[in-house]
Amino acid sequence: MSTDVEDKLRALREQYARHLPDKIATFRAKWQAACERPDDPAPFRHLLHELHTLAGSGASFGFPRVSRLARLAEQSLQRHLETPGALSLPASQAEIAALLERLAAAAQATGAPAEPAPAEGPPSRHIHLHVTDAEERQRLIRQLELYGHEVRHFESLAALAAAAQEATPALRIVELGETSADPDRLRQAFRQDPAECPLIAIAADADLSLRLQAVRLGAAAFFARPVDPDRFIDTVDKLLHLQAQDPYRILIVDDDHPAAELYAGTLKQAGMLTRVVTRPEAVLEQMREFNPELVLVDLNLPGCHGTELAAVIRQCEAHVSTPLVFLSAERDIAYQLETIRQGGDDLLIKPIAAAHLISAVQGRAARYRLLRSFMVRDSLTGLYNHASTKELLQRELARARRTGSLLSFVMLDIDHFKQVNDRHGHAVGDAVLRLLARTLRQRLRATDIVGRHGGEEFAVILPECTAENARRVIDAVRERFARLAIPAGEETLYVHFSAGIAAYPEWDTDYQLSEQADRALYAAKAAGRNRVEISR
Ligand code: GH3
Ligand code: MG
Ligand code: MG
Repeated sequence: MSTDVEDKLRALREQYARHLPDKIATFRAKWQAACERPDDPAPFRHLLHELHTLAGSGASFGFPRVSRLARLAEQSLQRHLETPGALSLPASQAEIAALLERLAAAAQATGAPAEPAPAEGPPSRHIHLHVTDAEERQRLIRQLELYGHEVRHFESLAALAAAAQEATPALRIVELGETSADPDRLRQAFRQDPAECPLIAIAADADLSLRLQAVRLGAAAFFARPVDPDRFIDTVDKLLHLQAQDPYRILIVDDDHPAAELYAGTLKQAGMLTRVVTRPEAVLEQMREFNPELVLVDLNLPGCHGTELAAVIRQCEAHVSTPLVFLSAERDIAYQLETIRQGGDDLLIKPIAAAHLISAVQGRAARYRLLRSFMVRDSLTGLYNHASTKELLQRELARARRTGSLLSFVMLDIDHFKQVNDRHGHAVGDAVLRLLARTLRQRLRATDIVGRHGGEEFAVILPECTAENARRVIDAVRERFARLAIPAGEETLYVHFSAGIAAYPEWDTDYQLSEQADRALYAAKAAGRNRVEISR
């Protein structure tokens, strides 16, 4: 299995484990409510279904104990449901309640705090490169090496293509031109396995003929010279899967439960995170809580039409731009067009082929995420901006409170940054900011939140992490960053930062957390900089 898939699965598993205790707590509350009116079988049936789903998902996510206990509870409940009056008996109620209690304990055990990020980063990657212009070549190689890649340069395209016979690199970067070698041979060499070894094409200009040549060679990206170094490194990281990607969150609204579960299963296999709603009344609450990046809406819903529900969703300011895709069994084209006009982005006709569903959903969710990122992200570093970091701190804090978990908040400030600007210019200063942003992103867990607080200050939220663990993690980043040799014209530059940490529950409002982290940061500066302090 490629590390990319493994990472995705691990992230999904962590997410699942995190939500488990909440889920079981809800089960128990529902169970108690149902027991108050034991003559009404509907709530019990509902619970039965949920236990069944949990038994299945627990097993697929690798929590056999949770799965087994859910199965036992399901079987016991099923038995009692089949015997009239059985669920009114205290002994029967106690049996199931005991199973649910054991289930809650098992769920708690899966939610243990995650390990701090490993001190060493991803392994370096071999890149094969052919660029004719010596200056451009030097610039690109330096940039790639700065980010830990190993680069081998080839004098000609043909030599580069031939090298693949010995060892396949992780990535190829080639310059195209009028005189490039036999196109058929190249195509054969490059197109063998674009997933295993992607190709980046560089060309002297952005002519359509050169772009076409790149597409025909199977290039995943195209750059016209001079190459923008940040966009370039970003693309390299993406192609090498070095950037952690959160799974897309997809909400499915369909009263046909098996169909909804099928769509959910299909999207999950493609690495997405799904939630199913069968009752239209529950949609807005789920939108708020789950914050989906796309909603699939069945047109045939109990009590309202899908387009009406879409209109309701669109009336909420927070969801005006969330993509809505309708599901329908209706094949009439005029009807379909009219439906889309009423607030949808697309309409998929049931039955839907898995590949079609995945591509329709993935493409739209990706585009939505990109558009959103322009609103919530800092344009220089790509990190969360000040406002979103603040909002995310509130959200994470609320979650920690709810689940009885913990959290660390870190404020981080580059030391003597003004001197970097003064001595080497603003452009080098900007490059340092981007380098720190990237180092933080690469060294921290996918669930950690990194924001640019402003200027040369950064904020990091580490969920489920004690102050001591946060110190270890941030200190490892500090050491690593301070050792990076940053090219600045002819010179080489070394930069370091100071950081302050405050943790929940020791400090228990977002205001206190930022004030105390700031205080600790100030203490770190006063104690000589290039260090990490905790506020107690
Ligand atoms: P200390 O170790 O005490 O933190 O010293 P410092 O020089 O880092 O702190 P100071 O607050 O005096 O200077 C921060 C500098 O950061 C001043 C400002 O010009 C620079 N800066 C803020 N935002 C940006 C930016 O987006 N790009 C660049 N290049 N510089 C920035
Ligand atoms: Mg500052
Ligand atoms: Mg500073």
